[in-house]
Formats: sequence, C-alpha cells, structure tokens
Amino acid sequence: MVAKLQAVRGMNDLLPADSPRWRGAEQRLQAVLARYGYEEIRLPLVEPTELFARTIGEVTDIVEKEMYTFQDRNGDSLTLRPEGTAGVVRAGIEHGLFQGQLLRLWYQGPMFRHERPQRGRYRQFHQIGAECFGSAEPELDAELIAMTAQFWRELGLSGLRLELNSLGSREARAAYRERLQAYFRDHQAALDADSLRRLDSNPLRILDSKNPDLAALIAAAPSLPEHLDADSRAHFERLCALLDALGVAYTVNPRLVRGLDYYGRTVFEWVTDALGAQGTVCAGGRYDTLVEQLGGRPTPAIGFALGLERLLDLLAASGIDPATPREIWYLVSAPGACRAQAMLLAQQLRAAADAPTVLLDHSAGNFGKQVQRADKAGARVALILGEDELAGGTITVRMLRAAVTTQETVPRDTIHATVTRLAAQERP
Ligand code: ATP
Ligand code: MG
Repeated sequence: MVAKLQAVRGMNDLLPADSPRWRGAEQRLQAVLARYGYEEIRLPLVEPTELFARTIGEVTDIVEKEMYTFQDRNGDSLTLRPEGTAGVVRAGIEHGLFQGQLLRLWYQGPMFRHERPQRGRYRQFHQIGAECFGSAEPELDAELIAMTAQFWRELGLSGLRLELNSLGSREARAAYRERLQAYFRDHQAALDADSLRRLDSNPLRILDSKNPDLAALIAAAPSLPEHLDADSRAHFERLCALLDALGVAYTVNPRLVRGLDYYGRTVFEWVTDALGAQGTVCAGGRYDTLVEQLGGRPTPAIGFALGLERLLDLLAASGIDPATPREIWYLVSAPGACRAQAMLLAQQLRAAADAPTVLLDHSAGNFGKQVQRADKAGARVALILGEDELAGGTITVRMLRAAVTTQETVPRDTIHATVTRLAAQERP
C-alpha cells in the first residue's frame, strides 16, 4: 500500500471551480492599482532569514514562531517569505530604486507562516500588497488608504470598516512603552505566557494579543494617542481631515498597533464582522525608517497587504461573484471529414484576439451526447457540422441558453453575425 499523498496542512489547492473568482478579484484590484500609478514588482519566495529578523522584529509572533526557516545545501539560513514588504525594501536598495522620487510598487503571491490553520488563517496564504516610497506627507497616506476604499467599491463590497491609529515617533513610542510596561507589571498575574514574555522585550505587542481573556485588561491600558509627539499628532490630524474630505469613513482605534516592528505613525486595518475571528482583510501603515535601517538612503514609505483568502471568503459571504463570465462555443461534428473540418474551423475561430473559448468534443460520440456535453461545459453556442453542412460549406448555429432553443444553418463566414442576431432575438 502506498501512503496517500496530501497537500501540506494549512496549504490549499486552488481548483478550477474557484480560480475564475480569484482571477476576477485579482484583476479588479490590479486595475485599481494601475489607475493610482502602481507598478508590479515580482520577488523571490525565499530570502535570507536575517532580512525578516531585522525588519519584522525579533520579538514578534512571525519571527519567534511562524517562519519556515531552513538551511540550504550551502548551509545558508533561508526563509520562505512570511510577508512582502521586507523583500520589496531589500530589492529597492539592491537595485537603486530609491532615488528620492515617488515610487509606487505592488506585488502579489504566496506568503508562509506556521500558524494554527483555521478559517481565514493558513500556512500558505496569498496577499496583494502595495508600497509607496518617497514622501512623508499625510497626503500620501490618504491617497493610499483611499485606494483601498476604492477596492471595495470596485468589488461591490460594503460593510468593511476602516480602523486608524498613529504609533507616533520612535521616541514617543519609547515613552509610551514604559507606561505600558508599568501598567502590565501591575497586572502581571492576569497575563498569559506570550504576554509575559513580551512584557520586558516588546510590551506593545501585548495590545495585539488575540487572547479574549486579555481583552478587558488591554482595553483599560494606557492609551497610545495621549503619548503622541506633536509632529505625529499633526500628521494624524491632517490625515483624518484629508480622509474626511475624500469621503472615506474611519474610526480611530487607539489599541491598533499591528504585529510588525517596522511601523511608525499611521497604521490602519480594514475589518469585517462577516468572517468570524479572522476579520482583518487588509492592513498596513507607515514605515519611514525601514529603508535607512536596511542600509538604503532615508526614504519614508507607507504600504499595506491584503489577504486574498479572506477577501474571497468575504466576497462569497456577500454573494458577490467577481469572475468574468466566460463565453464558450462548442463544436459538434460527425466523424471523419466533418471532424477534420470542425477542427480547422475551431483553429480559425480561436485566431481572433477577442475569440471566445472554442471547445472541440474529441469523443467521436453521437450528436445528442455531444450537445449534452456542450451544455454541461457551460457553452452558450453549439456549432454543428454534419454531412449536410460539410457538403454545403455551412454550419448550424444553435443557441443553448435561450428559453426556446433557436438554431439556423448559415455560411461559415457569418458565424459571428448569426450568433449576435440570434442572441438579440432571445431578449424581447
Ligand atoms: P492577523 O492579525 O489576522 O494575524 P496580521 O496582522 O498577522 O494578521 P499582516 O501581516 O498585516 O497580518 O498581513 C496582512 C493581511 O494578510 C491580514 O490582514 C490578513 O488578511 C492576511 N493574513 C495574514 N496572515 C494570514 C494567514 N495566516 N492566513 C491568511 N491570511 C493571512
Ligand atoms: Mg498574524
């Protein structure tokens, strides 16, 4: 007995029944990104482990316990990327992309984190993300956030809410950190193991805890906005005013800190109640010091990543199918010379750039069976080529989706016009 082979736990196959929905959603997001001037960057799935330790932060869930890290045959420590920003910054520095001008980039693809698989949380998941480099102005934050708001309009999604916060400057965060540490020390007995570990190294992370037992304690903790430095406060107020002017609604959530260390000032999340515990669909923020920290010239930046599994789940829960409907024409033919002629015709039809999907039957079965299969394949049109059509240089066009089936035998060079005319007759 050969053991049954299965996909790795938490890593999913995307089957043909679902891929049109995914492609449709991705294409719509990409169309919006293009309208805002974002250009695609494609990066390796594997990076040196050090890159993630230095950017995401040593004392984070991702780096402490979620990374797929391995030694390659040279003994180098490599990691399957758990997120996209670190790689974009690495590539930007390596290829000299940060030259002081505005640079807008987007990426897409699988990310890997060894988390406990559940709805909306997988070990291989997929993100579309965007990063904009070269401006510290709040206008940039507003433009980027407004673009994410446009995503939802584009997809017909409502009910996502925008949560916004400012993490302030590094100095402001350091002062806040001490206050927070003192507070949690006073309540040490109530903390869980993860939070106890963070108490010394990274107390802000406790605010990001998913443990419901800590919710009340976290809600009563000292508030970050009260510790903001004047510049960050002005930046945040300007951002809020800009979002108001753009008609993008938000709520300020003073507990929003995000799970990665590189963020400062603006952070935001798009959250829904429709997906259970994993309700954050899109999340991002400013990271003005990261480029410099990795050895590049000082380059302020802001970005976000959107989880595609959660987005597709939300679309399904909202009854929205983002797939672009496919037009299918199905060739039905008698055997022998008719079949050869059908094959040639299919080839000619497919040569047009705007051709529909043209399917050949390939079963040599009888007409009835072939038409049944055409119907099952979702075809709108059957093109029937029998002995009479072969002899007359014609084709029979049959509309399969009409309430009353219509068909007509016409010269082969009038197929498109015939389909258009018969389709028009379907709708009175
Ligand atoms: P969460 O708080 O849900 O763990 P996160 O803060 O770790 O998310 P980010 O690193 O900011 O997430 O990633 C951005 C987005 O990617 C998330 O908002 C979510 O939509 C998606 N995402 C993150 N981790 C996973 C995962 N393990 N499975 C599926 N989607 C994920
Ligand atoms: Mg996480």
